[in-house]
This record gives sequence, C-alpha cells and structure tokens, in this order.
Amino acid sequence: MRILIADDDLTSRTVLAAVLRKVGYEVTQTADGAEAWEELQKPDAPRMAVLDWMMPVMDGLEVVRRVRALPTDQPPYIIMLTSKGEKADIIAGLDNGADDYLAKPFHPNELRARVGVGRRLVEMQSELRQARNALAHQATHDPLTGILNRRAVESALARELAREQRQHNGLAVGICDIDHFKKVNDTFGHDVGDLVLIEVVQKTKGNIRQTDSLYRTGGEEFIILTPNTDQEQAGILANKVRQAIEKHDFETVGRVTVSLGCAQFDKKNEDSTEQMLKRADQALYRAKEGGRNQVIIAD
Ligand code: GH3
Ligand code: MG
Ligand code: MG
Repeated sequence: MRILIADDDLTSRTVLAAVLRKVGYEVTQTADGAEAWEELQKPDAPRMAVLDWMMPVMDGLEVVRRVRALPTDQPPYIIMLTSKGEKADIIAGLDNGADDYLAKPFHPNELRARVGVGRRLVEMQSELRQARNALAHQATHDPLTGILNRRAVESALARELAREQRQHNGLAVGICDIDHFKKVNDTFGHDVGDLVLIEVVQKTKGNIRQTDSLYRTGGEEFIILTPNTDQEQAGILANKVRQAIEKHDFETVGRVTVSLGCAQFDKKNEDSTEQMLKRADQALYRAKEGGRNQVIIAD
C-alpha cells in the first residue's frame, strides 16, 4: 500500500519514510501542502496520508479540508502530525476530517501502529466497496449472458426518453424473441438451450452499434435500445440482426431464427416508454403470427 508523507522538515520526512518503508509501505514524499493536495487529487492517489500540520504554501489542516470536499468513494485515511500537541489543535484537526493524529516527536512504533490501524480501515473499506459494486452489477446484469437485465432497461429507457424529448433525434426499441425455443430445449436439453442464448446474444451484439444497448428481459426475449434512430433505420438494424442469426451455424443445434417487433418513440402522441414497448410487443406478436423469422415495425 502506498502512503503519502507531507512534511517540510527534511529530517522528519526521512524518518517517517524510513519507518514506513521498513514495514513494507510504498512511500510518496512531498515537502509542502500544495504538493500534497496535488497528489491526493490524482485518480490513483495514495489511500493513506501522513500530513504535517505546519507546512509552507498550504498547511495540513487546509489539505484535509480540501480532500474531504472531494467527491470520492475512496477517501484517504489521514493522520495529522502536530508538534503543537494542544488539545484545541487536535480537536480542530479531527473536526476537519483527519482520522487520527500523532504528536511530534513521535515514537516509530506508535507511527507503525497508527498507520496499521489506518491500513485495516482502508482495506475494509475497499472490500465493502467491491462487495457493493458486485451487488450492483448482479442487480442489473443477467448471469447467463452477462448482458444487462430487465431492471436495467427501465432506467435506460427513462433516461433515453428524457433525452429524446429534448433533442428529437429519434428513439426506437426492438423486442427480439427466439423462435420455437421451447423445441430447442425439448430436443437438445436445457444446457444446450443456454448455449444458444449465449450465441444469440453474441451475434446480436456483433450487429448493433456501439451506442445501442442490449438487455435480456425474459427467458428468450431481448430488448435492443437504439437512440438516434428513426423507424426506417430501426427496421434495417433489426433485419441485420435477424439475418445474422438466421445465417449463423449454431453449435449442436444448427439453425435458429428470431422474430423482432420494433417501435419508435412517438413525439406527436407524447408516448410513454410503456406505450412504446407495448407497440413493439404487438409488432413482435404479429411477426410470430406472420410465420416468425421476420421483423415487423409498429405503425
Ligand atoms: P415462439 O416462437 O412463439 O417464441 O415459441 P417459443 O418456444 O420460443 O416460446 P415459449 O414462450 O413457448 O417458450 C420459451 C422457452 O424458453 C420456454 C423456456 O423453457 C425457455 N427458457 C426460458 N429461459 C430459459 C433459459 O434461461 N435457458 C433455457 N435453456 N431455456 C429457457
Ligand atoms: Mg512543518
Ligand atoms: Mg420464443
């Protein structure tokens, strides 16, 4: 783990660095508060800092204040060094966001111990952050195919609709459903069915644009969200996807086809996302009724 040491006093800085290096920390040193503030703003900033209180250009207290105002989910653990040792200063340091303090001259073992406390906290915070990110990923992604799920499509649709109402560049959705998928499962087994789902996702992803997004919204149903797209372009894109899947030689099962229903956001009628999806779903139903392996665009 890397620690930032900020102290204008060369001797004190050297001792700090030596003690911390000896117990395995990587050390970055600065000689004033402004440099420390620079370091702590970097994207890969150290997760711990030992800041001297009295420093030229910017004192340690000001560095702490500024760092605590930064929007981050990985705030550094900060230990203030004070030669003042006055209760009022210690209180001011802690009140302004320091996590701990150490009086100068410090005992090397006390420094080691206090930095150790900080490291445990930083590590615990990292683990919590990772767990939280993993949960957020699970909540919005389909575990089988790795793409976004139904929960994610709702927020994306609301966001794109808001953008469309301002910018009027066209917004379309396509609902894609695998044809006779039940038969694939019945004939080849559920595991093979799962592989088909993965391959359909890969083929679809390979045929939509980078600005489009793909969601698994049901067992064998997907939504393609296409911003900046009018009805005609949506139809072309949907047919491209349909043809790519039709032509693809699926491992084990051979040919698989999909049907798609598309709808464009209707600005005249002040569509809601539900209405747009409903029209796409009705178009999909007609594609199925019409013999499958086809694209129908909602009027
Ligand atoms: P249609 O052409 O009308 O869409 O017919 P279909 O057979 O594709 O549609 P139906 O809704 O009758 O069947 C969908 C099947 O998808 C039934 C279900 O067992 C299967 N399925 C749903 N989720 C999964 C999954 O995660 N893995 C596998 N292997 N099958 C799934
Ligand atoms: Mg100083
Ligand atoms: Mg189906």
